[in-house]
Amino acid sequence: MDGAVVSNVPYDAARALGPELIVAVDVSASSVLTADAQDEGFAGVFARATEILMNTLLEQRVRTWTTPPVYYIQPRVEHVTMFSFDHLREEVEEGYRATAAALDRTDEWPEPGDVGIYPKRRVMVRVERERCIGCGTCLVHGPQGMFVLDSERKAVVTQPDQEWSPMDGGYIRHCPTYAIIARPADQAKEMRRSG
Ligand code: SF4
Repeated sequence: MDGAVVSNVPYDAARALGPELIVAVDVSASSVLTADAQDEGFAGVFARATEILMNTLLEQRVRTWTTPPVYYIQPRVEHVTMFSFDHLREEVEEGYRATAAALDRTDEWPEPGDVGIYPKRRVMVRVERERCIGCGTCLVHGPQGMFVLDSERKAVVTQPDQEWSPMDGGYIRHCPTYAIIARPADQAKEMRRSG
């Protein structure tokens, strides 16, 4: 169901039902990067601001989530904005497709008693030093202590090897110069090997 602005993906309401596992299908547009919202007038900017607010509330809510474990599915509908009601069929069909595909990936699913948000993947995070302007935004939005500024005011990652759920890594979007890169750990190793 739609938990509106305060709880757009209502994990807490699902937990109140006492399940062993929650399957969350998030069809919101809130994680999409929208470059032209400012060209759409006040209503467009206000809608985009509301999407960012909903996404921030959601991220904060699940940051410390424990039990029951949540399997989080994000269908590819990020291009559909909050008030695009004529895309309802597309959203339902893509939600169904993404959920059916996730059911086939049984190795990703949590067991009863596991904690947190799934699926989890190992990623390597790094900063492209030449792009970093030392603004410090990643120190504010990233996990505490994950980034520090060195003596040249360039961000350095203190814990590059991370285990992420789909809800992690939002701070990458806050870097104004797109200097923070995250790659699946196996891919990053392969790239290092090939030079
Ligand atoms: S947010 Fe980006 S530009 Fe700012 S300090 Fe961090 S890596 Fe550098």
